[in-house]
Amino acid sequence: MSEQWIYLDGQYVKKEDAKVSVYDHGFLYGDGVFEGIRMYDGNVFRLEEHVDRLYDSAKSIMLNIEVSKEEMSNIIIETLKMNKLENAYIRVVISRGVGNLGLDPFTCSHPQIIVIAEQLALFPKALYDTGIEIVTVASRRNRADVLSPKVKSLNYLNNILVKIEANLAGVSEALMLNDQGYVAEGSADNIFIVKKGKILTPPGYVGALEGITRNAIIEIAQKSGYEMKEEVFTRHDVYTADEVFLTGTAAEVIAVVKVDGRVIGDGKPGECTNKLLQQFRDTVTQDGRKVYKQNAQVG
Ligand code: PMP
Repeated sequence: MSEQWIYLDGQYVKKEDAKVSVYDHGFLYGDGVFEGIRMYDGNVFRLEEHVDRLYDSAKSIMLNIEVSKEEMSNIIIETLKMNKLENAYIRVVISRGVGNLGLDPFTCSHPQIIVIAEQLALFPKALYDTGIEIVTVASRRNRADVLSPKVKSLNYLNNILVKIEANLAGVSEALMLNDQGYVAEGSADNIFIVKKGKILTPPGYVGALEGITRNAIIEIAQKSGYEMKEEVFTRHDVYTADEVFLTGTAAEVIAVVKVDGRVIGDGKPGECTNKLLQQFRDTVTQDGRKVYKQNAQVG
């Protein structure tokens, strides 16, 4: 495999040399924000939306990203080019930077920008054919008025605790409720249910990250003539839905066929889920920023 280049604090460095200080507040306190972005056949899917969400997260925690959004997009694109990638997963990390051992973020010299781009590890095809099983976990979503789930922060302990519970239950994804017991999302995916042709997903204020894939699916569903609503719902609505699916940058659209032991629909990925996945995949390459000029060779 050829060399992997990582953007780190103003320069491109080899993977082996991409190291951050133990005094970085991203490491010491989870003080920072991040994005996970995907590139399909040379097109970065909804780059502007990801960059907007990154800057919103940063603003919310009073972290001043010292480059413009356009410069940030260019850094991401340049990292993809340096690594000669066509289909990739991109991780953008902005940490508060190097400070002292105290909590005070104002001791940090400047935010660190890190961009990692790797060949995409696809979800196994079999999961799309069979669908997945999930269980409700005891850990609740962070309350939006305490630490908003809209901030994609480097503090992912809430999600990690959920993932641990799912793993202990022998499944790969979880159903996470908010503090009032309403359905919020998965550990790293948004949730949708389909009942009698109507599609529902929890509104942002219930306590979910506003997923870029979620937004794309809402648009696709509306364009395809489905009745699509953001609505609060409970586990009962999930158990009795005709179809349930999760959305996320890595998962795209993945059917859930069992929830807490209840079989959803006929226990197979449903028609609506399959249709939305297909339509999503049909649009991902057009719905993005082209990284390479037409006919330019990669590699
Ligand atoms: N919820 C959480 C908690 C996430 O971390 C993510 C991102 N993996 C999502 C939902 C899905 O968001 P997106 O579609 O932007 O990847």
